[in-house]
Amino acid sequence: MKIAVLSGKGGTGKTTVSASLAASLNNSQYVDCDVEEPNGALFLNPQIADVVPVNVLVPNVDESACNGCGACGNACRFNAIAVVKGKVLIFPEVCHHCGACVIGCPQNAISEIEREIGVVEADNEHSFLQGRLNIGEPITIPIIHQLKQLTRNDIPVILDCSPGASCTVVQTIDGCDYCILVTEPTPFGLHDLKIAVSLVRKMQIPFGVVINKAMPEDQSIQTYCGQESIDVLMEIPYMREIAESYSNGMLPVQMNKELKTRFVQMYDRIKGGAAS
Ligand code: SF4
Ligand code: SF4
Repeated sequence: MKIAVLSGKGGTGKTTVSASLAASLNNSQYVDCDVEEPNGALFLNPQIADVVPVNVLVPNVDESACNGCGACGNACRFNAIAVVKGKVLIFPEVCHHCGACVIGCPQNAISEIEREIGVVEADNEHSFLQGRLNIGEPITIPIIHQLKQLTRNDIPVILDCSPGASCTVVQTIDGCDYCILVTEPTPFGLHDLKIAVSLVRKMQIPFGVVINKAMPEDQSIQTYCGQESIDVLMEIPYMREIAESYSNGMLPVQMNKELKTRFVQMYDRIKGGAAS
């Protein structure tokens, strides 16, 4: 099973749920795809053994062969290359590595060079993976792509998505067997849950909802899920004890055995549903 954990909005407890699920299963692989701010390691404490750079190809112009015709700028759909007064300007941060400018240059003046945008880090057994985007880099997809190439097929894989419903999340959940949507009982939580629901429905991935910081007096999420026939997988209660342990780098399942059992049961239920 490859299970992606996402949330329409940040701060709902996505990492708590994904790291708790990984920690509750005897043998699993946790993959932190929140590459702009990976923080699952704070709770899972992996021993990082491998650090592999993630490189992309960007254009490089041979000025002696360039005649300033401007064809490369016309070929680029991302405004990553422009020709001003016969001189080629390249903006590597916004380059999408498509190679169109290379193909479009009539003088064969453009080649491609490697540029590092971040790293992928792993422990020895690859039970923990995380991507890390360099500060200032805007394009996350190549790192997600590299992380997904390293996912294992022999054990459950839990992918911790970045918040929101951006292309980074789309790339992460693509090909997954199931999505867990984490939300909280607030108007913002409900609003952003609806966006996440429309995304997974569009991508036709089975999904269910975990309500974090659940309070008996607020049933807004349960009501919405009932109306939409969405499975509520688990409710994690709003408890000071959980918040305190979290702020000390401890997962709720590390201090509460009953919660750990419920995470295992949730996994079995997801697996059973996928198998049926
Ligand atoms: S590789 Fe593609 S995105 Fe990058 S500069 Fe060339 S045309 Fe633009
Ligand atoms: S297309 Fe080639 S020759 Fe024309 S401006 Fe760009 S690099 Fe120079």
